[in-house]
Parts: sequence; C-alpha cells; structure tokens
Amino acid sequence: MNQQPFRSGFVSLIGLPNAGKSTLLNQLSGLHLAITSPKPQTTRHIIQAIIDQPDSQIIFLDTPGYHQPKSRLDRYMSGRITTAVMDSDIVLMITDAAAASEARRNELPKQEQQLLASVRQMDKPVILALNKVDKMPKENLLPVIERYNKAYPFMSIIPLSARSGDGMNIILEEITRRLPEGPRYFPADSITDQTERSLAGELIREQILLLTHEEIPHGVAVSIELFEEEGSPERERVFIHAVIYCDRESHKKIIIGRQGSMLKRIGTAARINIESMLECPCYLELFVKVREDWRNKSDILKNLGFETRK
Ligand code: GDP
Ligand code: MG
Repeated sequence: MNQQPFRSGFVSLIGLPNAGKSTLLNQLSGLHLAITSPKPQTTRHIIQAIIDQPDSQIIFLDTPGYHQPKSRLDRYMSGRITTAVMDSDIVLMITDAAAASEARRNELPKQEQQLLASVRQMDKPVILALNKVDKMPKENLLPVIERYNKAYPFMSIIPLSARSGDGMNIILEEITRRLPEGPRYFPADSITDQTERSLAGELIREQILLLTHEEIPHGVAVSIELFEEEGSPERERVFIHAVIYCDRESHKKIIIGRQGSMLKRIGTAARINIESMLECPCYLELFVKVREDWRNKSDILKNLGFETRK
C-alpha cells in the first residue's frame, strides 16, 4: 500500500475586487463561509475557510480585493493582503479570465501587475486560477494563458468557473499536492462552528472600520464570548454576545457614540451581514471594553481564535 503523508497549509487567495474570490471559497468549501456580492469590496478582512480532507487540510486566507492604496483604510487592507501572503504556504491568485479575454491590450491590468510585484518580493509559489471561463468562448483561453505566462512565473495556471464549479477538483488537487507535509491544524469536527464564530467577529470589526473614521483599526479586536444556536434539527436563530476590545478610553467613546448611536449602527449593520452568513435570524449583543494590553492576554487571544495554530 502506498501511504500518502498528511499535507496541510495556508493558502492566501488574492486578486482584484470582483475576480471571484468569495465565490471560489464558497464553491470549494461547500459552505457559505465567505460572502459573495456583485459589489467590489464586500470582504474587507481575512476570512478563513478550511477544507478538511482525509489526507489533507487546506486553510484559506481570504483577502480584500486589491486596489492601489490611497486612503488609510486602503493601506490597512493591502497590509492585510501582505500579512496573508506572508503567512501562507501557497498563493492562489484569481483573475477574471472573461474580462481579460476582452481586454484590448496584451498586458495585465495595472493593479494586477502591482499585486504580483509585491508578491514576487515575498517569494511564494503562486497558482493562477483563470476564473469565469463559463462566460467566454473556449478558443479565447489560450491567448489569456499566454499573456499570464509571460507576465509571471506561475507554478501552474488553471482555468475554472467558480460559479458553475467546473475545475474545482483540479484546483483542489493542485493545491493539495503542492502543500508541505504537516499536521491537521484544526480538529475536523469543530471547523464550521469555529469559522462562523470568527467570521461573525470579522463582520463586526468590518463595521467598526467602515463606520468610525478614526484611528481605530489597529487597536480594536472583537471577541465572540457566546455563540448559541437555537432550534433543531434546523437552526432557527443564533444568539451572539460579543465584546469589542479597544486600547483606549477615547476609542471606546467613539465606538459607543453619542447615547450609544454609533454602537447601534455598528450592531445593526453587522447583524444584517451575520444573518446573511448564517442564513437565520441573529440576536447580537455588543459590549465595549478597554483592555490596554489585550494583545498579551491569553484568555482574550483564545477567544479570538489565536490559539489554533500551534
Ligand atoms: P470577490 O470580490 O473577488 O470576492 O468576487 P465575488 O466572489 O464576490 O464575485 C464577483 C462577481 O462575479 C459576483 O457577481 C459573482 O457571482 C461573479 N462570479 C464569480 N465567479 C464567477 C464565475 O465563475 N462565472 C461567472 N459568470 N461569474 C462569476
Ligand atoms: Mg469577496
């Protein structure tokens, strides 16, 4: 018998807004873990999706769609991309091949060139997914492949359709065989719950970033203290109790807002997104606490899910 070693690792998914990152993640995991939307920039944060197979575990780091950093938030987001790429074993770049086949010029979009230039510095193997092949005639594929081949030393180039699911097995196999030997980082049976939990935290954090235009992002963390499901066998509702930790009293004031108005906006917007992720009603309770050194507090870090990578 030919015993295969267990393989595992982190894969960062990069690409321009609307390339199909979220759709691909959803299709690959078979779960609604990332949010798809026809609008660019829905996903502002790294979202982990985990694909657990008998002989491998792939952990995806979703990243915000890249665009040239102009605002502070942009810079923050491209920082998140860099972090994800640095932390990953393999980079999966996804591009809209249908759009590429319609492009007049025989070079990559400027933003993609920039993205690849920064990935190149980090010296990671990059697999290219040519997405949306369902939207284009097959014969247009070859010129697109050639264009990308010339532009960057991709480890492999794989045409697929994240929407229809065409090519999913091929890309999964390609990723798996390139992963290093490694442990099952996340226990197989706790994956969905952990991911929904931490994604709920990310969705709350996202609204804090969007709605407060202050110097808050770096000092804020969201901890999901309680995540309780009701109803069986069908889940009918979820209770979430979350604590927003910030560095300073002044940040706490901003997040709460006048008579709680900001916290209410954050909560309402986050709840709507959480409900669409969980596909059921959600009761969301938010608390704001100041913990000056939350980064060093192990109990908080554990709730934030940082203990998982040993
Ligand atoms: P993201 O911004 O990279 O996360 O992109 P999304 O996954 O949100 O997808 C952007 C848009 O492209 C959505 O309207 C998707 O339905 C659509 N889309 C994604 N993948 C495909 C595909 O394979 N074929 C087609 N026709 N549309 C796709
Ligand atoms: Mg997305």
